[in-house]
Amino acid sequence: MSASPRTPGASAGSQLAIDGGTPVRSTMLPYGRHWISASDVTAVVDALTSDFLTTGPRIAQFETAFATYVGAKHAVAFCNGTAALHAAAHAAGLGPESQVVTTPMTFVATANCARFVGASVTFADVRPDTLTLDPAAVRRAVSGRGGAIITCDYAGEPSDLDELAAIAHDCGAVLIEDACHALGARYRGRTIGSIAPLTVFSLHPVKHVTTGEGGVVTTNDQELAQRLRTFRTHGIEDRRGLAEVTWQYDMVELGYNYRITDFQCALGTAQLAHADAWLTRRRTIAERYQSAFTHLPQIEVPTALADRDHAWHLYVIRLRLDRIQSDRARVFRALRAENVGVNVHYIPVPWHSYYQKLGYRRGEWPVAERAYEQMLSLPIFPAMTDADVDDVIDAVTKVVAYYAS
Ligand SMILES: *Cc1c(COP(=O)(O)O)cnc(C)c1O
Repeated sequence: MSASPRTPGASAGSQLAIDGGTPVRSTMLPYGRHWISASDVTAVVDALTSDFLTTGPRIAQFETAFATYVGAKHAVAFCNGTAALHAAAHAAGLGPESQVVTTPMTFVATANCARFVGASVTFADVRPDTLTLDPAAVRRAVSGRGGAIITCDYAGEPSDLDELAAIAHDCGAVLIEDACHALGARYRGRTIGSIAPLTVFSLHPVKHVTTGEGGVVTTNDQELAQRLRTFRTHGIEDRRGLAEVTWQYDMVELGYNYRITDFQCALGTAQLAHADAWLTRRRTIAERYQSAFTHLPQIEVPTALADRDHAWHLYVIRLRLDRIQSDRARVFRALRAENVGVNVHYIPVPWHSYYQKLGYRRGEWPVAERAYEQMLSLPIFPAMTDADVDDVIDAVTKVVAYYAS
């Protein structure tokens, strides 16, 4: 392994921090983080000093604001995105007889929601460019006996929704969109959240807007919205307007307590006011990365297709391992040593022990599995300064140049 000449951008010199050199930055930059402003704090304090900590007016206010933001008729808020996925699986009518086709390139919760309701899971491979579900692979995987297709808008790039909706239609399946990465993204002129029968969002602090923990399902279907609400509160039918006049209530099915609190929804509404500006900032950062890295022969930059607007929850590069005298693990450690908090999204879901015990075997999803070996998520979040962005560009350039073959 030979040290390459000093790279122009690498202000801290070319000796890697992992080899004892000076790191590009002195503090660790995370891959994602929330942003809380003074107006957010005021909104939460107002909620905390109001009559309701939970099940008060701020939940409906937030749901209305969220539905308006994505252009959906209904939004139902939950205590986290995983509960929202569970509720979507329930509302779609999934059960032990159902087959769910989903992607291996996502967070485990996307597939787990099928297991929560006892459904069986088939993983279909992803497109090599965007790493979203490959419609041809889904077409081969569906059984034609109902169930669901659960797609993930990986990194914030919308899935092939028209093609997936056509497959779902042909086999009587429900299309559920895990859009936890994709708040504000658009597909062929329509906003994500207004397209699939059920679209799921997370409000975890690394996502586009946060309530601490939280999740939302959007739908244009009144009946699905009702099922989501019932499931959120123990399976007890919605009794808004009746609580003042009667003690009667009826638990019509088995549900959960998946409610979100009023002070969280106060935060959510306040955060939504920043969503457009933050999305613009994410796009600016992504553009700077694209232009800095496109010409580095050791790196493949992410694909953003022309007929959709990427929401850039993640910025995932892939290493061209044939052009690097190293592997992903070493590049990962080298970048962490430079204080750039790279991460990996994701270990293919069927590789996890739980799914291995269910009988899934490695090697069946060559596109996702190959991409996994190459990928690194670089920091991207709206509160990053231009200097932070420069640090990431310098560190990646420095490390990759050092290991270039
Ligand atoms: C964050 C995330 C979830 C889970 O959301 P939580 O709010 O953390 O429960 C599900 N799917 C994907 C793709 C996610 O990124």
